Amino acid sequence: MANQVMPNLLLKRAFLTPDRPAIAFKNETYSFKEVYEKSYQIAGQLLHLGLAKGEYAGVLLSNHADTAFIYLAFQLLDVKAVILNNRLTAEEIAWQLNDSKAVHIITEKTFTKKYEEINVVLPKLTVIPKEELFAANFIEPKITDEISLDDVCTVMYTSGTTGHPKGVLQTYGNHWWSAVGSALNLGLSEKDCWLCVVPMFHISGYSILIRSIVYGMRMVILDTFKENEVIKTIQSEKVTIMSVVSTMLIRIEAELGESRLPKEFRCMLLGGGPAAKSLLENCMVKDIPIFQTYGMTETSSQIVTLSPEYSLSKLGSAGKPLFPSQLKIIDSNGEEAGNKTAGEIIVKGPNVTIGYLNREEESSKKIVNGWLSTGDIGYLDEDGFLYVLDRRSDLIISGGENVYPAEIEGVLISHPDIADAGVIGVKDENWGEVPVAFLSGKLELKKDEITEFCLQKLAKYKVPKQFYFIEQIPRNAAKKILRRELRQYLKELKRQDCN
Ligand code: ATP
Ligand code: MG
Repeated sequence: MANQVMPNLLLKRAFLTPDRPAIAFKNETYSFKEVYEKSYQIAGQLLHLGLAKGEYAGVLLSNHADTAFIYLAFQLLDVKAVILNNRLTAEEIAWQLNDSKAVHIITEKTFTKKYEEINVVLPKLTVIPKEELFAANFIEPKITDEISLDDVCTVMYTSGTTGHPKGVLQTYGNHWWSAVGSALNLGLSEKDCWLCVVPMFHISGYSILIRSIVYGMRMVILDTFKENEVIKTIQSEKVTIMSVVSTMLIRIEAELGESRLPKEFRCMLLGGGPAAKSLLENCMVKDIPIFQTYGMTETSSQIVTLSPEYSLSKLGSAGKPLFPSQLKIIDSNGEEAGNKTAGEIIVKGPNVTIGYLNREEESSKKIVNGWLSTGDIGYLDEDGFLYVLDRRSDLIISGGENVYPAEIEGVLISHPDIADAGVIGVKDENWGEVPVAFLSGKLELKKDEITEFCLQKLAKYKVPKQFYFIEQIPRNAAKKILRRELRQYLKELKRQDCN
């Protein structure tokens, strides 16, 4: 099929509705025309500093209107942004830059310590803080006025929950179709305004920027998450949609107390990981309209969504695949599993990545005929609703029964004295494997008490056989539990026991 092309997204939007408000940050609101002018200026400065069409360049920035302008300047020049997670250590970032072979990095003075350390590891890397970029000379840029949907726009590394992060190639087509799929699902209103307090370096934040440009919709950027400020911003900026992860929603729900969000607020898009049923129930009581989602870096944001009309009858489900996308559950032979049978989730669609950067072999193993193996386990009910269970690599098989750590963790953290929990499987002579739990929280809890608590909510074979109290459950920058570190921790403990 011929390469499909489209006008450059920002160029088109600035032409269609130049005067509409586009981006609000702190006390400033920029129209689409102003966003274009800012991005155009930056594009000319990037050019002067030596960035060239087609190259992969690193971006290490915090949530700010400037970040949006820089991302869009990259699109105007067709420089591919390797978008880096600013919560990672210098060593982790250097690893990703090296992996992507980027020679430039655009960053900001707030990360001076971090980029200086990166520069020690990668002395050939040219570091350009935005403060210097904005003061640089300007060369009239040649704008990429037409984009090919197959061309790479961004590279984002996965969270590295299961191993080394992988650089996911996200094309213009992936971003376009992700935005279209989301609009077909949520609908669009003239009054829509999307609050972005999730990181812009993550697909959850970057996809809001794309939607703003594609829909002609206002977005409000916050640089830090504070629940009281979020609620105030929703009210003052007349926000109608917001993207959240569980931990944010828990804090918003608690902060609301007896008050309610404005009636115009129509969607809390919840994703990134599993959500506890108790949280969904609490939100229902407070009329917070939750759209549960399932997605990953490889699907350029949500690929499955549950509308609030099903939030009661399908509580705990992530919903159905968006219009442009497909989903199947397959068994260990690669055959489609029947309803209510757990297997690996595979997905396909124009929003699904074309592969991983510089990892052709792994890409061709994970994507076959356009179907991406997600590495997640789930099942479909009789109506085609998806229930995500856990990652395949973390599945515990005990006495022939499948045990999903996420389910047990959900029960453990519902105990008032348990702050956090992580569950892994260990070898067992009788059962093959049994679950054990790591806990943080009040140390006075006795094993018997916790076991009793679990037995009220879980079948016996799912109840952890051992509990280990540790100061903190290891989580990565995306706050996901690093179960491989728990396995390592247990090995260490065993080794010490033997000595
Ligand atoms: P890596 O691929 O490097 O191990 P990661 O998979 O954590 O890292 P992301 O792309 O940020 O990196 O996260 C996507 C993953 O998050 C999904 O594959 C899934 O495991 C989990 N996830 C997302 N949404 C949900 C959900 N609704 N329920 C359960 N898990 C979810
Ligand atoms: Mg993953």
